[in-house]
Amino acid sequence: MSRRGGLELAGLGIAPGIAIGPAYVVESGALEVPVHEIGKDQVAAEIDRFHEAVARGRDQLAVLSQKARTLHGSAAEELEYLLVAHSRMLEGSRLVRGVEERVRDQRLNAEAAVSQEVGDIVRAFSDMNDSYLAERSKDVRDVGKRLLHNLMAAPYRALTDLAPGTVVVADELTPADTALLDPRRVAGFVTASGGAQDHTGILARSLGLPAVVAAGELLGNVTSGDRVIVDGGTGTVVINPDAGVEGVYERRRGELRLQARKLRHLRDVPAVSRDQVRIGLLANVELANEIDPALDHGAEGIGLFRTEYLFLNRDTIPDEDEQYVHLANVVERMAGRIVTIRTLDAGNDKLPYSLGEPVGAGANPAMGLRAIRLSLKFGNLLEDQLAAILRAGAHGRVRILLPMISTISEVRQVRKVRDRVAERLVRAGVAIADPLPPVGIMIEIPGAALAADSLAGESDFFSIGTNDLTMYTLAIDRGDDQVAHLYNPLHPAVLRLIQFTTAAAARAGIGVNVCGEMAGDERMTAILVGLGIRELSMASSGVPRVKQRIRNLDITEAVRRTEAIMEQNDAGMVASLLDDFNALA
Ligand code: PEP
Ligand code: MG
Repeated sequence: MSRRGGLELAGLGIAPGIAIGPAYVVESGALEVPVHEIGKDQVAAEIDRFHEAVARGRDQLAVLSQKARTLHGSAAEELEYLLVAHSRMLEGSRLVRGVEERVRDQRLNAEAAVSQEVGDIVRAFSDMNDSYLAERSKDVRDVGKRLLHNLMAAPYRALTDLAPGTVVVADELTPADTALLDPRRVAGFVTASGGAQDHTGILARSLGLPAVVAAGELLGNVTSGDRVIVDGGTGTVVINPDAGVEGVYERRRGELRLQARKLRHLRDVPAVSRDQVRIGLLANVELANEIDPALDHGAEGIGLFRTEYLFLNRDTIPDEDEQYVHLANVVERMAGRIVTIRTLDAGNDKLPYSLGEPVGAGANPAMGLRAIRLSLKFGNLLEDQLAAILRAGAHGRVRILLPMISTISEVRQVRKVRDRVAERLVRAGVAIADPLPPVGIMIEIPGAALAADSLAGESDFFSIGTNDLTMYTLAIDRGDDQVAHLYNPLHPAVLRLIQFTTAAAARAGIGVNVCGEMAGDERMTAILVGLGIRELSMASSGVPRVKQRIRNLDITEAVRRTEAIMEQNDAGMVASLLDDFNALA
């Protein structure tokens, strides 16, 4: 921390570029419960407001129950049991009566009354030291959370209507929060915690928002309205800079913009190496508003459409029709270019409130019930998604991609569901993709990379997810800033898994691409191409830089250098050999 020319903090730069503007400090905690006294004449209205929140909660649970009935086996029973218990709590239970009393007798606002009543019930349960009651107290907390969401007029953070040019400052931003940031209004963001490789960073890069995380002493040193500089390239944040410092950053920002403009001429030229090898460059997309920038940057298609963002920031799960409308729009706007739609990859740091309990509850969310495991457990989720994808496929070229595959039986099960859903739709006279879209799998679990030969027998293509592959291979949480310095996709173990996967795909004659963040880093292009990768999918802002690198690259030479690099046993040595090669360009 330094105070010359403004307060300077060092963090992790996660999305390049420079933002300069007034700060908007997001109050920490997804739900800040307001506490205040109400007047005697406000009691009736406050109780009405509470009843409305209860009624809304009952409606939400009824919708979830309806969905639960379409599930299979024990999953349906489990969920139904939970939902019934939750609805009972909203029907004249101690919780409801207790809140009414607090509003009436203590003249508390409804939010505070809910929060205090829940706190009292949970405390009473835990005093009894009984494991059954301990479980029930979790239910009471969940119902309380639902009521608070319903009571607070803006259930999701008020990040949607900021003044243009604002720099968002927060303790933490989840991927769901980040998805609400509108690049036309937000210049960039900085948070006190967070890791470089989690989905908040991925979204920032996709939206082109300069961002810094893990800027430790941020909060307490900045208030809304302060002038803030965020340098996402170096990880520097300056609060209330003097005119001299701000001038330096303004000039730097101007240079970066100029460099980006200079690369624009590459938009319509192909990514062909000096020795005439063509590399496919596709975009990773999370939100529909990223389609135009993807085309603008010259992406030839979408290599990864992360559907989980359709499920975030809402109370209910999107049904087949809603998903279809959304996906068909994406496919149509891509006008015949390939669109790779990944099925729901919820879990870990992407936790849709709309999915309720099953997601994120495990002891280790990164290894728990997430992604394809969740879709297969709650079969209707998968059927609805596949139906929507098949129908969207009637509007253009679509591929299906499955996240977090670890065993061949998962691929077989999905293929069966795809075929069954296709038959049902055809029987009903609904237009779907013809032929059926290919089914590919993410290779992002080390075991899947090592089993790539057998998985290739059931997969139409591989997409290597280096973000999770690095995390699981090195046992480094991609979202944990304390170990961020150890997170390194150039670790020889990760590179060998990529090499192994690529060779297995070649043996099976199927396509293979990389869609992890490594694909969008032009310093990594030579080694990926040298390992045999011929398609890369990335945040679209990376396409021009990677294309420029490819056009300067001799692939035969890249292969030769990669062979030497693969003999190294140290990530530092790998990086410096790669730097040497890159410096020749
Ligand atoms: C990956 O893990 O590399 C990947 C592309 O998937 P995600 O970042 O969405 O987990
Ligand atoms: Mg992944």
